[in-house]
Amino acid sequence: MSALLKDRVWVMLSEVAKRGVYPLHGSRLGIFRIPVEITERSDISAIINSLKNSGFKVDTYADRIYVTDRWTESGKDAITQKEVEANLEITVEIVTGDVVDVIYQIRPLEHFGDHYWIKNYRQETDTKAKIIIDTIIWNSKIGDKLIEHYKKSQKLSPEDAIKKLDEMTPLKKKPITRDASAAQQAMAPEKGSPQPQIQTSAPSVTSPTQTSPSLSGGNTTIALSGTGNSYSKIEGPIDPDFKSKRQVTGAFQGIKVWGPIDPPGQLGIWGTEVTVDFDICVADGACIEACPVNVFEWLDTPDHPASEKKPFMIREKDCIFCMACENVCPPQCVKIFQKS
Ligand code: SF4
Ligand code: SF4
Repeated sequence: MSALLKDRVWVMLSEVAKRGVYPLHGSRLGIFRIPVEITERSDISAIINSLKNSGFKVDTYADRIYVTDRWTESGKDAITQKEVEANLEITVEIVTGDVVDVIYQIRPLEHFGDHYWIKNYRQETDTKAKIIIDTIIWNSKIGDKLIEHYKKSQKLSPEDAIKKLDEMTPLKKKPITRDASAAQQAMAPEKGSPQPQIQTSAPSVTSPTQTSPSLSGGNTTIALSGTGNSYSKIEGPIDPDFKSKRQVTGAFQGIKVWGPIDPPGQLGIWGTEVTVDFDICVADGACIEACPVNVFEWLDTPDHPASEKKPFMIREKDCIFCMACENVCPPQCVKIFQKS
């Protein structure tokens, strides 16, 4: 099973429906959202070309690429004892855009005829879909961009980013060779083009005892330590209207904090688009686990009565508004606000 997908087959989300992805009646829907941008026609053509050697049928329409695997099942009809055959297929749809959605729908077996003699149809088709997806990701420009994404967001070396991609796509067919120097060259800016600003150090999360407005260049104006104990247990969910009821009290590494706060016992609500009520959070980590673009990092909050660490939305600007974190939070203390 593809490591990439095993935990990431999500139920239908309204945000996905808005992009024109609708489940077919009786089909099983699998979807994975990849945090890379594919909007140029040339990128779409490059993806199609790189998949031509994979043995799949590749079609395109507008912003979508369809990759189909066809195969024939053979067996014996239990009643007639005759040898029988069935032609089956599975299509993976790549929806390009600011993020890439990779989707497949397993049709009911009846769609292909009365092939009741076929065993494990869904399981086998599911695996075939994952083989296609792993191949798409490893062999195409989507993989190039994911490597760049890991290098930037997780501060991985080119070698480690490639290794991560390799581990995530164990089912890939006819894999192309990827080496770190080629990956670097492939993404290097053309001569004469403006040089991107490269961030050389990770936006590290400061421990509470190190926090100091003067040391953090002014984007941290609150401390997490103190003597405050005005905490009364608050049950979720987060108040969806908190922005009209609370004031921004300060910031922590540039992330807004909505008061009242009285550290360490009362910490308020953090974030602008990705918001978490720290006074409710019980630190089970479901949001961190669910986030496909690594928005959160743990932040130590010693002596907070609900939990002594919190999911800090340090990369809030990377949020793709998939709503996964909001949907998985047990006490419902996460609220996502889409940019207007
Ligand atoms: S909505 Fe939540 S899970 Fe999805 S990208 Fe944003 S922070 Fe991550
Ligand atoms: S899922 Fe909710 S309770 Fe769990 S760590 Fe995230 S914000 Fe906290």
